Amino acid sequence: MTTIAVLPILKDNYAYVLAAPDGNAAVIDPGAAEPVLAYLNKHRLRLTHILNTHHHGDHCAGNIALKQATGAIIIAPAAEADAIGSVDHGVVDGDRIVINHLDFQVMATPGHTLGSVCFYLPALKTLFTGDTLFSLGCGRLFEGTAEDLWRSFQKVMTLPDDTMIYPGHEYTLANGAFCLHIKPNNTDLQERIAESTALQKQGQPTIPAPLAVEKKTNVFLRAHDANQLSMLRKEKDKF
Ligand code: ZN
Ligand code: FE
Repeated sequence: MTTIAVLPILKDNYAYVLAAPDGNAAVIDPGAAEPVLAYLNKHRLRLTHILNTHHHGDHCAGNIALKQATGAIIIAPAAEADAIGSVDHGVVDGDRIVINHLDFQVMATPGHTLGSVCFYLPALKTLFTGDTLFSLGCGRLFEGTAEDLWRSFQKVMTLPDDTMIYPGHEYTLANGAFCLHIKPNNTDLQERIAESTALQKQGQPTIPAPLAVEKKTNVFLRAHDANQLSMLRKEKDKF
């Protein structure tokens, strides 16, 4: 079975290393190369693929050094290939790619950036969400509209409840404070925050997050329409 390692990088980013039983590995969103190389060396893994969810540096700045060190192939949204650079394979919505015997489904999820994608791995019940969706939060609307992001969220909402989400940042507690401000009486939210607080006190990531819990607690994901999402996002920007 392929394993997923959560690598804290930069200030509050996560890169994820997927290690197959044969020692081949892929990395999602390497915003820095060093910690990824250190992990690969320590666990004697061969990096075959680099995947990016979007073009921001904290998600792809490690690409080139990793490619030079390992010869790995870079896979990224086709719409952002020029911004990212040295992309070997551009992907679009609905693409299915097999990496180290695992099926990756590409979901276009514009909003944070216009070309943002999520990678869905049905066999692992896993969704890599980049800065589209965080635990208890969502990315800022830098390029897309609230309408774009709301439609992206409706796609995520169709995934099975037992999907685990792996976002690009550790923002759970800060996001949780905002969700609690909006929905003070949501007991599922109170539970998620308590559990996340305990994990963070032990220096542990709050990631991955069960999509079932996000569906009950994340006020952005639960927005009824684009207008409500827009109002929440604007309020969060000032929170
Ligand atoms: Zn970003
Ligand atoms: Fe980011």
